[in-house]
Amino acid sequence: MSKFFTRNKVKKIILLVASGVLMSSIALPAFAAGNVRENTSPIVADYFEKVKANNTELIAFLHEMPKGGDLHSHASATIEAEAVLEYAAEQGFDFDRKALTFVKKTPAEQSDSAIYFTNATLKSAVSANSTLGTSFREEVLSEILEAVSMRNYKQRAVSGHDHFFQYFFRTGDVTIPDPEIYRRLFTRAIKENIGYLELMTNMKTKADYDSVIKIKDDVIKSLNSTRKLDVNFIATINRNADNAAFKASLDKAIALYDNPDTHTVGITILSAEDDLLSQKNFIAQMKMLDEAYNYHLKTQGTGINFHLHAGELTLDYSEYLALTDRISKSIDLGHAKIIGHGVSIAWNEQVYELLKKMRDDKIGVTVCPSSSEAILGVSGGDTHPFKLYWNADVPVAIATDDEGLSRSNLTNEYAKIAKWFNLEYGEIKWLAFNSIEMSFLKGKGIFKDKNFNLTADEFKAAKSLAISSGSAKGIKECEVYEEYLTFEKKMESYIYDFNW
Ligand SMILES: [Zn+2]
Repeated sequence: MSKFFTRNKVKKIILLVASGVLMSSIALPAFAAGNVRENTSPIVADYFEKVKANNTELIAFLHEMPKGGDLHSHASATIEAEAVLEYAAEQGFDFDRKALTFVKKTPAEQSDSAIYFTNATLKSAVSANSTLGTSFREEVLSEILEAVSMRNYKQRAVSGHDHFFQYFFRTGDVTIPDPEIYRRLFTRAIKENIGYLELMTNMKTKADYDSVIKIKDDVIKSLNSTRKLDVNFIATINRNADNAAFKASLDKAIALYDNPDTHTVGITILSAEDDLLSQKNFIAQMKMLDEAYNYHLKTQGTGINFHLHAGELTLDYSEYLALTDRISKSIDLGHAKIIGHGVSIAWNEQVYELLKKMRDDKIGVTVCPSSSEAILGVSGGDTHPFKLYWNADVPVAIATDDEGLSRSNLTNEYAKIAKWFNLEYGEIKWLAFNSIEMSFLKGKGIFKDKNFNLTADEFKAAKSLAISSGSAKGIKECEVYEEYLTFEKKMESYIYDFNW
């Protein structure tokens, strides 16, 4: 069970509070002054236990809860199918109902409505004054929205894996302007109480970065929010490529990483890991990462922050032998500091040695429940390897991966993990702090040995050190820490008010 905040400890504190023994110092422990330990509120922790089994109560709680950072989010896949459809209509596309793809056809070709929804149909379907009949409009919307997202995929006889990866072909040449992607993405992050994003996309120039930050600031202003949201980027390399193309992408990614103007703090490799090309070239790719890492270390004095998708595999989608070494080789050869997904860990050779190494070297895992559920069918506490990492003290952070495409968000990912693994409030709270601790933000964090229950004096000293040493990580952790003080105080007042 929890190493941080056991349920028995929560109950014991609550009993003591109820009996008046600790009323003066612990009744509202999160806000006590001086050296009284600012424990996680037992009242809030107890409420979390009560609502955990009910999804709507759990979502309401987690939506309000500060969630630290999202370290694994592909910017282009944050956009939802509705926006893709609107832009396709605006840009003159028709929809091929057989190929489930946006295309541009001549009027003669479009005339068969069994095969095509015309651009006029698309335009009308998304219009506030649609002239399509209700049932036809519904047919158009359902067919398109389901083709370009994971909407309702469970109700259909399709492979989630194939449906997911076909998205990138189905959207064809439809262009979603970057400002629109970022406007929607930041709006979601603010509403979900997220404080930090490491977005997987290539941020190419200072001008591009400045315009993205301006969009973020405008969103914060338009929402009348006081939230501090920081953003960095992870450059991407397509693994589903021949070795020359992979090397060219790696060189470009390193150039972005070495240019401080782009705020690129890491590099990832992506695309379907089970694809034959990815599998055949895996070792060659890892050797290129190894060479690049060592060269960087030699010439610049630091290695490279690699956040590598690895072990996003199951027996259904991969040959057995690949499952035995993808995570370990991504670390040993590829120098991964973070593993994305890590689903196949149980099959990795010398798994316990690997877990020890990950724990000791603080090599974390970004866990993306909805993505693994939709793409690999890995769903629920019995099949997802979260506990294997968690019980070995390997750092873990909850992330979204492709929130628009998956029709999910960070709140929903926390809810899934809380339910699948019956986590307590203190554990969920640690996951939020750990999303900052595991990040590629510079500097030292403020928590020692996972102790996030600091006294007021300890917090004051930690904050002052974070500021004076210029630790971006420490400063961000202090922000999240203070957000939790406010959140728990608010939750306590609601719990009293509603008499829950
Ligand atoms: Zn990913």
